[in-house]
Amino acid sequence: MLNILIVGNGQCGNRILDAINKEAFGGKSKFAKFYSQQKYKSKVETIAINTAINDLKELSFTKAKDRIHIPHLHGVGANRTLGKSVFEDNKSHIMRNIEERGNFDVGFVITSASGGTGSSFTPPLIKEIKEKHDFPVYAVVVLPFREEGTLYLQNAAFCLKEIRDSGVDGIILADNQFLKQIGGDVQSAYNSINDMIARRILFLLDALDSEMMMVTDLGDFKTVMSGGAGLATIGFYEAEKGMNVKTTIQKALSPNGLLFSTDVYKEGSRAMVIIKGDKSYLSIDEISSEVEKLSSSVGHVFKGIIVRKGEAPQVLVVLTLEAAKELENLYSVAVDAIHQEREKKTRVEEQKEIDKAFSQIDGLEPDY
Ligand code: GDP
Repeated sequence: MLNILIVGNGQCGNRILDAINKEAFGGKSKFAKFYSQQKYKSKVETIAINTAINDLKELSFTKAKDRIHIPHLHGVGANRTLGKSVFEDNKSHIMRNIEERGNFDVGFVITSASGGTGSSFTPPLIKEIKEKHDFPVYAVVVLPFREEGTLYLQNAAFCLKEIRDSGVDGIILADNQFLKQIGGDVQSAYNSINDMIARRILFLLDALDSEMMMVTDLGDFKTVMSGGAGLATIGFYEAEKGMNVKTTIQKALSPNGLLFSTDVYKEGSRAMVIIKGDKSYLSIDEISSEVEKLSSSVGHVFKGIIVRKGEAPQVLVVLTLEAAKELENLYSVAVDAIHQEREKKTRVEEQKEIDKAFSQIDGLEPDY
C-alpha cells in the first residue's frame, strides 16, 4: 500500500483537489466527507492551502482538517512577489502540517501557474519538501486561457520555470486553453476540466497500487517521469459502447483524451499505458500493436493491464515530452506580456511627473 500526499494550492489547486476528494468519497452528497471512507486503496492525505478564506469555504468534499488557511486579507491578488513572501512567513506552519501526517512514497502538488497564491507557493513548497524528504514530488500545473491578461501570462512563465528549478521530479501539464474545447460557460468548463484531471489522477493512483495482470508500479512511473524535458501530460479515454481497446488507446492519445496540446508521436519521450477493463475486451493483439506503434516513435513504453470484471475498457497514458511546441508558443506570448507590463510601468513613472505638477499647488489656496 502506498502513502500518497496530494496538496492543492490556491483556488484552482483547491478545486481540483476537491474534485479528487469528490471522486474518492464516491459521493455527490455534500455531506459525504463527514461520514464516508475514502475509496482509495492507498493511504492518501489531501491538503488544500489558500490565503483566501472564501476559496477554502467553497470546497465541498475536502475535510476541515485538510484545509490550511494562511491569513492574508483577501489573498495575494496576482502578485507573486507578495505571495512568495507570505509563503516564507508561513513555511514552518505548512511544513509542520505535512510532517504530522507521516511518511510518504510519492507526492503531488496541484496549482494553476498564473494566479497569485498557488503559483507563488508551489515552487518554494516543492523545494522545501524535496530538501527535507526523499520521496518523489510531481507538480500538476494548470496553464491559463491565453486571453486572461498580461499578469496571468507572465506569472505562468515565471512559475513554470521556478517549479522546474525547485527540484521537482516532473511536471504534469494541463492547459485550460486547450481544454476549452469542452465548451460551456467558464464555471462549468472549470468543473469539467477539474473532473477530467481528478479522474486521471485517481486512475493513476489506482494503477500504481494495483495487482495487475502485467505490472507497472511506482518505479516505472518514476522512470517515465524522469524522461524527456521534465514535462509530461496525461491522456485518458473510456470506451463508448461497442468501442474496442485499440480505438480506446488511440482516443486516449488524441486531442480528445489529452490534457495538453501535443503531437504524441513527434514530441513524446517515454510513456506508460495502463489499460483497465473486463478481460473480454482486452485483446492482447490489439494492445500490442498500438503499444508497438507508440514505442517505435517515442522510445520506451511501459504497459500495465488491470482486469476489472464487467468494466468497459479505459486507457490512461502518462507521456513525458522531449519538446513542447505549445509551451514555446505560450512563452513567446508571455514575453510580449512582460514587455507590455514593463512599458505600462514606464508610463506610470511618466504619470508621476503629472503628480509632481499637481503637487506644486499643495498647501496653496486659490486667491481671488
Ligand atoms: P490563486 O488562488 O491566487 O492561486 O489563483 P487561481 O488558482 O484562481 O489562478 C488563476 C488561474 O487559474 C486562471 O488562469 C484561471 O483560469 C485558473 N483557474 C481558476 N480556477 C480554476 C478551476 O477551478 N479550474 C481550472 N481548470 N482553472 C482554474
